[in-house]
Amino acid sequence: MSALLAPHACDPARSRGRRFPEPEAPTRTAFQRDRDRVIHSTAFRRLVYKTQVFLNHEGDLFRTRLTHSLEVAQLGRSIARSLRLSEDLVEAIALAHDLGHTPFGHAGQDALHEAMQALPADARSPDGWGFEHNLQSLRVVDDLEERYPSFDGLNLCFETREGILKHCSRRNAERIEAQEPGGIAHRFLHGGSPSLEAQLCNLADEIAYNAHDIDDGVRSGLITVEQLEAVDLFERFRREALVAHPALRGRRLLFETIRRMLSEQVYDVIDATRARLGESGVQSIEDVRATASIVRFSDGMRASSQALKSFLFHNLYRHPQVMETTTRARQVVRDLFQRYLDEPAQLPEAYRCAPVLPRAAADYIAGMTDRFALREHERLFGVAVFP
Ligand code: MG
Repeated sequence: MSALLAPHACDPARSRGRRFPEPEAPTRTAFQRDRDRVIHSTAFRRLVYKTQVFLNHEGDLFRTRLTHSLEVAQLGRSIARSLRLSEDLVEAIALAHDLGHTPFGHAGQDALHEAMQALPADARSPDGWGFEHNLQSLRVVDDLEERYPSFDGLNLCFETREGILKHCSRRNAERIEAQEPGGIAHRFLHGGSPSLEAQLCNLADEIAYNAHDIDDGVRSGLITVEQLEAVDLFERFRREALVAHPALRGRRLLFETIRRMLSEQVYDVIDATRARLGESGVQSIEDVRATASIVRFSDGMRASSQALKSFLFHNLYRHPQVMETTTRARQVVRDLFQRYLDEPAQLPEAYRCAPVLPRAAADYIAGMTDRFALREHERLFGVAVFP
């Protein structure tokens, strides 16, 4: 056990290993290598042109999946270091957590899921049921990346894969469990928790998007600072910022408010998690996996964060302008999927010849960036969806 890591952290020297055994690297730990493999992957580079909330063509300053993933990694590492968890593992999971996202964010995923579900069962097997972005992220790192001579995927460690698969439907968990008994899907069928590093990435994801969606929402003009004054978590820190800097206004006041909000949430997670670690008495990663989730906000911060989430849901994610874009984006994904099933010749050869056409079409679409999907739609249908 490394002297720097807590006893309940994931120690790269005690990893449950890779699917295909490989010699250890001379200078990097197993988790550092995983992080590096993610950074060098094709799917990672595509994140730069994938939507978080705003479509990629709507503006240059909005978050994309790439900058979102970097922010999750930054927040995750800060917290991991304070709790003596593996920063490298947190970084690997955070950078990989959204690799399976379709173009156009959740709208694209939902459209693909509906289209896949509507097919007869034998047309979808053997690679799973419906379309789930967490499962797709796993599929990217396990199967779809083509970078090594003797195996598909990136051959990441169990701990990184466990963190990537943060949700999974029962049907898909049963399929994974059959292939990999006692593996990363086990907990979805039999209970238990993932590593603290994986738990931490979930919370860092939430902290990151709540904060950056305020910034992007205000920048876009779809929500206003006046509306946000009704949100306790925001207003508390806006007032605090004004007490410290009475003349502060506009953009700098917004950033100072978000900065203070982020810091407070990070400190809250560290304190609440430390307290829970003490109460739970976990001594090892095995104890962590057998115990209910440990990484958490305090009850007060949980309620504040929930209120902010609900504000963003009603005022930003359900804003008529966002909904209008979302409706068109869903149509793009539905159209592409149907066209590839009707005319497989429109798919690149490797996909056209895959054993299960709908899954191959879903993989191809999921891998697209926003702008590639729009170009492809225009090529196949002759009209621009966002003229
Ligand atoms: Mg995310």
